[in-house]
Order: sequence, then structure tokens, then C-alpha cells
Amino acid sequence: MDCVFCKIIAGEIPTKFVYKDEDMVAFSDISPQAPVHILIIPKKHIESLDKNEITGKMVSTACKIAKDKGISDSGFRLIFNSGSDGGQEVAHIHLHLLGGEKLGRMIAK
Ligand code: 5GP
Ligand code: ZN
Repeated sequence: MDCVFCKIIAGEIPTKFVYKDEDMVAFSDISPQAPVHILIIPKKHIESLDKNEITGKMVSTACKIAKDKGISDSGFRLIFNSGSDGGQEVAHIHLHLLGGEKLGRMIAK
């Protein structure tokens, strides 16, 4: 399958994982938009946020990682980009965890 995140999970693209469990992994974004920018993704290739039950665990995992990274008290942002207008470039659902500085308001155009 031609999915960059599946390749990362399969070990075909060397990546340092900040978190791993039986159904998800997390690693730093290759093009960080904040001092802390981590992607939380399910091991299973799921393309759409619709009709899946793993998103709750993705959010709680992101909160756990935020705590580990020491940005829990100062605050952070979680983003799911979905579909073309939502800016989703990789068709394997992922949650962005951003923080480590005061972030700008919401969206960039
Ligand atoms: P999207 O725009 O789909 O919400 O976000 C996809 C994210 O994946 C982007 O922020 C992009 O920088 C990141 N990304 C794409 N390819 C790679 C890669 O090979 N390694 C890592 N660590 N991040 C990647
Ligand atoms: Zn995939």
C-alpha cells in the first residue's frame, strides 16, 4: 500500500517513536509547526474519521504524550485535518499534537 504512515509503522522509513502500544504509535512531524509537533496514528490503515472507534483513544494518548513532554499545564492544541478542504494530506487518520509555545489563533490560510 502506498501510504507513508503505513511505511513508517512497517519500519520501512526509519522513525523515532515517542509512543507505541498495541494499536497506535506516535512520532514527531517531519515539518514541525511548533516546538512540539507530534502525530498520533492508529497502526491500522483507517482513511476516514467517520465510522471508527479509535479517535477517543487517540485523544487520550495525545494528552498522555503532552504530559510526558511537559506541555500539559501550559496548554496544547489537538488537530484532526479531514478531507481536502480540511487540509488532510495523508489518507491515514492522524491527530496532530502541537505545543511548546503560545500558538496563533486557529487557522492559517
Ligand atoms: P495532514 O496535512 O495530512 O493533516 O498532515 C500530515 C502530516 O504528516 C504533515 O504535517 C507532514 O509534515 C507529516 N509527514 C508527511 N510525511 C512524513 C514523514 O515521512 N515523516 C514524518 N515524521 N511526518 C510526515
Ligand atoms: Zn496507512
